[in-house]
This record gives sequence, structure tokens and C-alpha cells, in this order.
Amino acid sequence: MSERVPVVVGIETSCDETGVGIVQGDTLLANVIASSMDQHARFGGVVPEVAARAHLEALPQVMDDALKQAGLDRADIDAVAVTSGPGLAGALMVGVGWAKGLAQSLDVPFYAVNHLVGHVGVELLSSEGRQLDTPTVALLVSGGHTSLLLVRDIVDDVEGVGDTIDDAAGEAFDKVGRLLGLPYPGGPQIDRVAKDGDPTRYTFPRGLTQAKDQDKHRFNFSFSGLKTAVARWWEANGDPTDHQMVADVAASFQEAVVDVLVTKALDACEYHGVPRLVLGGGVSANSRLREVALARGAERNIDVRIPPLALCTDNGAMIASLASEMLRRGRPATSMSVAATSTLSPSVTQAGVDEGAIHTAQKSTTDHSNDSVSVTDDDVSALAGKEDTLRKVRTPWTPLLSLLFGVLAVALSPAFGLGMIPAVLGIISGHRARKHPRGRVQSAMGLTLSYFALAVSIAVAVVVATPIIRALLISGGFLLP
Ligand code: ADP
Ligand code: MG
Repeated sequence: MSERVPVVVGIETSCDETGVGIVQGDTLLANVIASSMDQHARFGGVVPEVAARAHLEALPQVMDDALKQAGLDRADIDAVAVTSGPGLAGALMVGVGWAKGLAQSLDVPFYAVNHLVGHVGVELLSSEGRQLDTPTVALLVSGGHTSLLLVRDIVDDVEGVGDTIDDAAGEAFDKVGRLLGLPYPGGPQIDRVAKDGDPTRYTFPRGLTQAKDQDKHRFNFSFSGLKTAVARWWEANGDPTDHQMVADVAASFQEAVVDVLVTKALDACEYHGVPRLVLGGGVSANSRLREVALARGAERNIDVRIPPLALCTDNGAMIASLASEMLRRGRPATSMSVAATSTLSPSVTQAGVDEGAIHTAQKSTTDHSNDSVSVTDDDVSALAGKEDTLRKVRTPWTPLLSLLFGVLAVALSPAFGLGMIPAVLGIISGHRARKHPRGRVQSAMGLTLSYFALAVSIAVAVVVATPIIRALLISGGFLLP
């Protein structure tokens, strides 16, 4: 008798969508999304605390709706997957905590996966007519991300090849939308009004496309200069009652964003010798982006694949789909000690693996409270050069230094106050190292010894210096013997 293909639930809470998807193998059974977008509208952008609270309130209902849509019961769930990063720290924490609780209560494996790689996971859903051919480049564009990924293998070999150095593309759409007096979110509104506009009416800058940028930022993006250029132009010339002007500015701005996104994505495909491109993220709903990507892709013999809208924006199905592939390949589950990581690198598809499973070596992390994560040796080598994540696995030498200075200070403290120098150094390094999770004991000892030696050194210095000063004052005639 053949074994049943596992049913995987995917939970997504990295930004303002609460998504629960249910997948069995490469078949989508349910995809339910609730959005807290309305609650952010009056602020003109996503407010992290509001998003986190909204996830907490929405999750039980979204989960029930997804189970109902799939015609399943909680007892049918074989594994639970969740986005553990990148995204908004508080919002991620709600999903990760909730998913851990669910997995534990059902006694099923738990998978913490990467949000960006999850977007590519949509392509594994053959029930939706999708097909993942690798290698592929992925352009992921949303309110929080503008990333180019090179996917050689969706589980084992994903590399971030480009990112925004300032605003995300969706963020730029939202900010320019607000400037033009359009409702939030600006992206769909600009898309709508731009249909009546002339995209060649105004020429706005294309960030990081000049020859001087090609060395360092060939596949990186920048939208803050464009946003500022539109703002300056609008301040000087803008008339919100002139609908044609609004349409022309919207169309010209949109053209600049689309031009840069498509050009860089297709250039990345050619540079890496990859004949295909997958689009994902809320901005890939943009009609002009779709049109230009497909047309220019065809011109350059690059197969551009754009998932349907419900699978483009943040959703739980993509998370379930990625975890389903991991299960199919027999990957070990994620350790329950894994934490949400707002800056998770795209090269870490799974954010932590059970101890005692394939990868046993766990690297300890600095105490960034909600920003910490356990990473494996493999993860660390895969991350070489990714500064943000490597900062978390730094070797703790400062606590030892503090202890060393403390001992030296005590040894030198009787010697005419000489111990003061190492004592001060011991105090400085001790305070710097105090919060290091692996150096608390050493730095506490270093600090105690250093403070003690400082006090002794000062006392010795005073005792030694008093008779000398007294003698000098007497010989100078300032004091009677
Ligand atoms: P996130 O929640 O991480 O920001 P989403 O996938 O929900 O990502 O995408 C939301 C973003 O997509 C918003 O910035 C929104 O303005 C943008 N967006 C949605 N539809 C369009 C569109 N048709 N054109 C341009 N941008 C769009
Ligand atoms: Mg969103």
C-alpha cells in the first residue's frame, strides 16, 4: 500500500497579509489570505505593531477557513511550515510562535522557511499549472522587498544577486501615490490612472543604471532618487486637479520603475546564463510591469513566468509548497528554538534544523532578542560575504579580554597606581561584552576584578603620593614642617 502524500500547512505573516495555505505534494488544497491593509491606510504605510496585532487576531479564523476550503480537519495536518524571515520582526514573531504551537499540539514536524524563496515555491504547484525549471532568476517586488535571486536549486542553492539599497519598489509606488493625492496603497492606483497617461511625457531618473554604477550595483536597485525627483517636480509644477497631469506623472514614474526592474532582471538572466525569469510579490500585479517583462523577455529569448495574482502577493500556499518540497526530499525539521529573523538572507532556505538531524553543529548567536537565529555550519559557509547575518556568529573575544585586563589590573594595583590603566581597559571591554550570550560570566568577572583593582590602585596612588606632595609643599615653603 502506498503512503499518503503529507498535507502541509503554510503560515505567512511577514508583512500585512495573514496567509494560511494548505498543500499536498504539488497540489494546492487551500489558500486563504486576510489583509490588515485598511488599518494602515490612514498612516500611508504598514505600521509594524498594527500588523502584528492584526495577525494575532486573524490567524485562528484564517486557519479555520483554510481547513474548511481544503475539506480537512486539524488531525489531517502532517507538517506545519512558517515564514521565519525576512520581514517585519513583530509580525514574523506572531506567525512563528503560532506555527510552533500548532506543530507541537499536533505533534508534527515544523519547518521555518525563507519568505523570498517561498515566492519561488509557487512555481512548484503543478495543480495551478506552474512548473519550476532551474536554474531560474526570480525578481521579487513588493512593499518590503526588491530582490533578485539566482535559484539553482530551490532547497539547496539560492543566491541573492541583487537588492534595493534604499526603498522597495512597492514603497516607492505608495509614496508617489500619496504625493499625487491617490488613496493608499498607491501601487494599484498608479497602475489604474497611468492607463490614461503618457509614459514619455516626463523623464524621471533610472536609479543605479549609469556606467559608474555597473561595478558595484549592477543588479542592485535604488528608488529613493526617483521618488525625490518626482516630489521636487510635483512641488514646483503639480496640480492635483489636472487629471491629465496626474495621469502623465503616474505613467512616467511607473515607466521608470518598470524599465529599471525589467532591464536589471533580464540582464541578470543573461549574465548568469539563465534563460528564465520568475516574477513574484505584490508589485508584479502591475499591468505595465507584466506587459514589459513579457515583451522584452520574448525579445531576449528569456521565458518570463508570472504566477496568478493570488499567488503573487504574500500567501501561505507558497510557504506550504516550499516545505512540501523539503519533506519530499527528506529534509529534517526545523528546531523549535528557531527565532524570527527580520533580515534572513535569501541563501538560507530553511532557517534552522533539528539538532541530531543532518546538521548538528549549531552556532550560537548574539542576543538581538527578536532578531536572532540559530544557523548551521552549512548555512554559515553559504552566507560567506553576507555581512548582516555573519555579524550574528561573531566569536566573543571581548569578554575574555575584559577578564585578562581585570587580572592584570589586580596584579599591578599595588605598584604605585599602575593598575589603573588595565583596570580602565577591563571596565570598557567588560561593559561592551556584558550582553554577549557566551561571555556573560567572563565579562562579569572581568568587570568585578577591574573595579576592585581601580579602587585599590587609586588608594595606593593616594597613599604614595600624599607624603611626596607634602614634602614638596614643605620644601617650597608653603607648609610648615
Ligand atoms: P508586502 O506586504 O510585503 O508589502 P505585497 O506582496 O503585499 O508585499 O505587496 C504590496 C505592495 O505591492 C504595495 O506596495 C502595493 O502598492 C504594491 N502593488 C500592488 N498592486 C500593484 C500594482 N498594480 N502596481 C504597482 N504596485 C502594486
Ligand atoms: Mg502586503
